[in-house]
Amino acid sequence: MKLAVAALASVAVALVPGTTSRPTRTVLQQSAVADIELPASVKPGVVTGEALMDLLQYAKTKGFAIPAVNAVSSCGINACLEAAAKFKGPMIVQFSRGGGQFLAGKTIATGDMVDKASVAGCVAGALQVRQLAELYGVPVILHTDHCMRDWLPWFDGLLEANEDYYKAHGEPLFSSHMLDLSEDPLEENIATCVEYLERMSKIDLLLEMELGITGGEEDGVDNTDVDNSKLYTQPEEVYAVYEALSKVPNGKFTVAAAFGNVHGVYSPGNVRLEPQILHNTQAYISEKLGGEDKKPVYFVFHGGSGSSTEDIQYSIEAGVIKMNIDTDTQWSFWNGIREYEAKFHDYLQAQIGNPDGEDKPNKKYYDPRMPLRAAEECTVDRLGQAMEDLKCVNVL
Ligand SMILES: [Zn+2]
Repeated sequence: MKLAVAALASVAVALVPGTTSRPTRTVLQQSAVADIELPASVKPGVVTGEALMDLLQYAKTKGFAIPAVNAVSSCGINACLEAAAKFKGPMIVQFSRGGGQFLAGKTIATGDMVDKASVAGCVAGALQVRQLAELYGVPVILHTDHCMRDWLPWFDGLLEANEDYYKAHGEPLFSSHMLDLSEDPLEENIATCVEYLERMSKIDLLLEMELGITGGEEDGVDNTDVDNSKLYTQPEEVYAVYEALSKVPNGKFTVAAAFGNVHGVYSPGNVRLEPQILHNTQAYISEKLGGEDKKPVYFVFHGGSGSSTEDIQYSIEAGVIKMNIDTDTQWSFWNGIREYEAKFHDYLQAQIGNPDGEDKPNKKYYDPRMPLRAAEECTVDRLGQAMEDLKCVNVL
């Protein structure tokens, strides 16, 4: 036992930020990577089950990650589908609980209707994606974002919707869902994930789980006093998750492990992104499993906004296959509207009357499709940039 503890300790030491040195990168032969083709099981439309795993494996082997974009409207959904088609890469459309409430309508998503409405909103969004994705000719993963323990009724409602859909269509409505129980002690986090994965695996759903401290602001903790190593997931924690979830028959899962990627809690400069942790974790688990698969874990990168391209791509080399994008596409959506208004300001002040004449109608300028289309176009451009960063361009 002492030997094992010593081995773990040495890995932990290597993970303390500031003590890690980035090794020379292993660059895959470009020709070998280019030869890898999209698996035949991955077809245009929503991908689930085995096709989903084939797509994630393809991303991991080829060395790219798929953008996961929080959508809150049909325009947001269509921008995702348009970007996927334009830049020829797969796309993950995801809904948060709050996004589901918004899709359902703010007035019904209140009081004891919140869970029901957020489920209905997410289902409505999912059905829209299902109706349209195939027409765009791109594979799309349908996902839901963070679900804390308090929000489990929302999660249960989503699973019921998937179970109904599975009975009718032989596959789940969504591709995957995220459970974020990272504030719980590790054992409780794992136990609940196992419980849910057992239910999800029966209908081919994938589980994304979260590990690591995601912040302490609400507890009044000054982040300068936080032991830095606690902001970074330890390899043995990921291994504990891997072991437990791998035992579930037909269990499919990904891990959102903290490596300094905390959203909005710590000011820039206080926390450093340490993708090396993901590399070390893959090596640690690979060795535990016998070493055949060098990257056994599918990692998810949360809080990607503001990260350098270098850090993003080094994370992808460590088996990151999904990166969440929310803040940057919130801005692009708004920025499209902002620029539209600035450009046509004088045509948007009344229904009649503009610089061309006081009796000229402005209908074609204030038609809501005009500013919303500008928002879509700006978002498609931003997603193209994200896909470039993630090497998710021209991979279909
Ligand atoms: Zn997140």
